[in-house]
Amino acid sequence: RPRVLSGIQPTADSFHVGNYLGALRQWVDLQATHETFYSIVDLHAITVEHEPKLLRQRTRVAAAQLLALGIDPERSTLFVQSQVPAHTQLSWVMECLTGFGEAGRMTQFKDKSGKGGADHTSVGLFTYPILQAADILAYQADAVPVGEDQRQHLELTRNLAQRFNSRFGKTLRVPEPYILKATAKIYDLSEPRAKMSKSSPGGSLDLLADVKASVKKIKSAVTDTEREIRYDEENKPGVSNLLSLLSVFTGTSIPDLEVSYQGKGYGDLKGDLAQVWAEFVTPLQAAVAGYLADPAELDRILSAGAARATAVASKTVADVYQKVGFLTV
Ligand code: ATP
Ligand code: MG
Repeated sequence: RPRVLSGIQPTADSFHVGNYLGALRQWVDLQATHETFYSIVDLHAITVEHEPKLLRQRTRVAAAQLLALGIDPERSTLFVQSQVPAHTQLSWVMECLTGFGEAGRMTQFKDKSGKGGADHTSVGLFTYPILQAADILAYQADAVPVGEDQRQHLELTRNLAQRFNSRFGKTLRVPEPYILKATAKIYDLSEPRAKMSKSSPGGSLDLLADVKASVKKIKSAVTDTEREIRYDEENKPGVSNLLSLLSVFTGTSIPDLEVSYQGKGYGDLKGDLAQVWAEFVTPLQAAVAGYLADPAELDRILSAGAARATAVASKTVADVYQKVGFLTV
């Protein structure tokens, strides 16, 4: 079976619909056909200022959401990144293969570092795409299911794998991105030209948010001053985003939705989306609460996952360390 690796940061109290459609839905589906490794990437979460207690809580909530969405710990290796030393061990080698300018071209860094000035931007935030490359390469992954925003980091990962292989001999598998076009980029509800993000919660549609609050958010989503319900990303980004979401959750194609909304208003579109959203998250929230009721069991699942992940990833580290000329222990 081909291998899959992907990760998600425990940087918020909930995952949002962009995380779900861009990545997590594929995580669940790929379990049927691939050998799957899924990580809650807490090392990445400390690249920005954080609160320790909150991080611990969010890591468990992340695990509970993944289980509730259908990640099966029997079929998938579900683990917390900081519990598997191979990631940081491999990361150092990858950092030494990365050009300073090459790292500086990562657009996510440019976006995220802008905010507080140079002294509030950690070196970790700068090097995080390299740690991410190590996350993937440690498992010799064939495919990486992610959203469109991660494409550039995947390209860096591929370049580093190829560079390592050409310098030290074939060692690392060069992974392919697995990005589904229709849901690769979900937009912010209040700022429909920006990516929905955990770090800008104002316009994100969150799996664990109070359903009534989410309905309100959907109803106040930014649209445009026309009245026509039509898919046009360029001129009608808000309406197009709502159509994409409704299309996925109802299984109806966008052209069919356009036909069925002829003569109707934005309020109708939003009302229908609010309804399918409520139907989707209500049972999900109950399942998450069930997993969170037994944190010891959650921790046990994660420890078992970490042991399995370590067994695979430490082999890659040993191979890489031998190839670069370190003495073997
Ligand atoms: P943060 O703001 O903390 O970076 P995030 O919302 O970008 O949070 P990540 O944990 O960085 O979430 O990413 C988890 C996965 O979700 C990645 O595969 C990423 O590509 C995907 N993803 C994130 N936002 C979106 C989005 N708006 N549309 C589609 N996929 C997304
Ligand atoms: Mg992100």
